[in-house]
Amino acid sequence: METIQSIVDQERSTNSILSVVIPAYQEGSHIKNSIGVIETILIENKISYEFVIVDDGSKDNTWKELESLARANSKVTALRLSRNFGKESALCAGLEYASGDMILVMDADLQHPPELIPQMVEAWRDQGYDVVEGIKNSRGRENPFYHTFAKIFYYILLKTADIDLENASDYKLMDRKVVEAWKQLPERTTFFRGMASWVGFERKQIRFDVAKRVNGRTKWSAYRLLRLAMNAITSFTSVPLHCITILGIIIFIGTLILGAQTLYMKLSGRALDGFTTVILLQLFIGSSIMISLGMIGIYLTKIYHEVKGRPRYLVSNCIKGGGKK
Ligand code: UDP
Ligand code: MG
Repeated sequence: METIQSIVDQERSTNSILSVVIPAYQEGSHIKNSIGVIETILIENKISYEFVIVDDGSKDNTWKELESLARANSKVTALRLSRNFGKESALCAGLEYASGDMILVMDADLQHPPELIPQMVEAWRDQGYDVVEGIKNSRGRENPFYHTFAKIFYYILLKTADIDLENASDYKLMDRKVVEAWKQLPERTTFFRGMASWVGFERKQIRFDVAKRVNGRTKWSAYRLLRLAMNAITSFTSVPLHCITILGIIIFIGTLILGAQTLYMKLSGRALDGFTTVILLQLFIGSSIMISLGMIGIYLTKIYHEVKGRPRYLVSNCIKGGGKK
C-alpha cells in the first residue's frame, strides 16, 4: 500500500484533470440538468474533467438517468450502491473511483454554485493550494431550533477537537494527495467534513451563498442530523468520556461534604427525617449514571462497528463513461 509520505506532488497544469464527485439520492428529476450546467461551465473554462456520480440507492429514476448519461457521455462514470448507505458512504465510493489530479466534491442539487469551480481550480493550479473549501456565507433559511442545535454542535467540536466546521460545507476541491491521505484513514464510519479538515494541507477558503435547491426535497430529517452530529463528535474527541470522570469527582466531593454533615447530625442526635435530600440525591445520582452509561455506550457502539470491519458501501453497478464496464 502506498504510504502518505511516498505521494509526490503532481505537476499542476492546464492539462490536469478534474474529477467531479457527486453523490445523488432521489435526484432523478434534475440530475441531468445539474450535470449539464456544471459541464457547460467546465467546457467554457477549458478545464479537463471527468464526472463520478454515485447513486446512493435511490428509489426514483436517478439510476436510469445516470445510466443513459454514462452511456452517452464518455466523461461520466456512474456508480450505483446496492442500497441507501447515506451521503458519507456515497462520497467514499466516489472518492475511491475518482482518478483526476484534483477532485471536487459537490451536491447534485446545484446548491453548491458551479460558477465557483474555475476560481477553485485556479487556486489549486496557480496558487498551489491543496484544499480549496467552500464556506457558506449564511446558512440560508433555517428554523431557530436547527440553528441553535447547529451552533451548539459546532461549538462542542471546536472546543473539544479543535476542528472549526462552522459554515463549512462538503463543497471542496482537493489535490490527489489529499484524497490519497484521506483514503488511508481506516475508520468505517466516516465524517467527510471533519476528516477532510483533520488531514490538514495548504488550504484556501472561498465563500459562497447557498443557492436554493433546484428540485426535490432535502433528505436530512431531524433524526439523521442528530445521528450525524453524534457521529461527528464521537469520531473526533473523547472529551465527553472525560467529562463523566470529572462529573464523578464533583459528585464525590459533594458526597464527602454531605456525608460528613449527615454523620455529624446523627452523632449529635439531631438527625432529621431528611427525605427530601434522599430523593434529590437519588434522582441526581441515578440520572448522572444513566447519562454516563449512555455516553460510554455511544463510544462502545462505534468500536463495535469498527471491529466488525464491514465495507463502507457495496457497489451493485458501475458504468464507465461511454458504456464500457
Ligand atoms: N445524499 C446522498 N445520500 C443520502 C442523502 C443525501 O447521497 O442518503 C446526497 C444528495 O443527493 C445531495 C447531497 O447528498 O447530492 C446533499 O443532500 P441534500 O441536498 O438533501 O442536503 P442539504 O443540501 O439539505 O444539506
Ligand atoms: Mg442540498
